[in-house]
Amino acid sequence: MAFLQIEQVPVLSDNYVYLIYDPATQACACVDPATAAPVKKRLTELGWHLTHILNTHHHHDHIGGNLELKEAYDCEIVGASIDAARIDGIDTQVRDGDMFTFGSASCKIFEVPGHTSGHIAYWFEEDKALFCGDTLFALGCGRLFEGTPAQMWHSLSKFKVMPDDTRVYCAHEYTATNAEFAITVDPANAALQERMAEIKTLRAQHKPTVPSTLGLERATNPFLRPDTGGVQKAVGMTGADVVDVFAEVRRLKDNF
Ligand code: ZN
Ligand code: FE
Repeated sequence: MAFLQIEQVPVLSDNYVYLIYDPATQACACVDPATAAPVKKRLTELGWHLTHILNTHHHHDHIGGNLELKEAYDCEIVGASIDAARIDGIDTQVRDGDMFTFGSASCKIFEVPGHTSGHIAYWFEEDKALFCGDTLFALGCGRLFEGTPAQMWHSLSKFKVMPDDTRVYCAHEYTATNAEFAITVDPANAALQERMAEIKTLRAQHKPTVPSTLGLERATNPFLRPDTGGVQKAVGMTGADVVDVFAEVRRLKDNF
């Protein structure tokens, strides 16, 4: 079953880069290398040779290390077909529903527009790991730079049906500030109150709050809960269309 090893590399001020290693084949992928140097350092420490880069979207804090790493390791760069022109050094273009083979594992590609128009996510179902970039965050979701609320809701809905124990590897440590907002739009949520206390403890010890799990996000993330009475009541939209409620929660967060 679960066989991939996943390493979290904190870089820049709040980005997480991930290394995925398959011991069976020694394949090693880097998800969203914001910058190359800390990734190289960690690879050397681990004795892993980079074979793939998996990009979720074109923003510089996700592809900034692409070319330097490709130069150093001659690795294969994977990214969204519809965004190929904006992914530096792209070799392999993938589309919604594709199964991408990585070592002895395979992952499913989801096109999840909203944060950017060409954003994709990588789901390693067998290993219960979702790499969702800047689409879903712990207690948050990405800003809508290139998409509509309807698109983002549809994208998040693709994650919403995954199993509870799916680990959510998002690309930023934004959880503490997301939590401060979340409680304002879901104040009666006991699971959220409990999670906020845990987040405070973790951050006080400078520990990551990521990955979380999809079960926890479904229970506490207001951007996955515009269809619940608690969130609808808090934003004054009881019974309203779910996309309209989602849009209002996103608008409130943008102005928080
Ligand atoms: Zn981004
Ligand atoms: Fe980002």
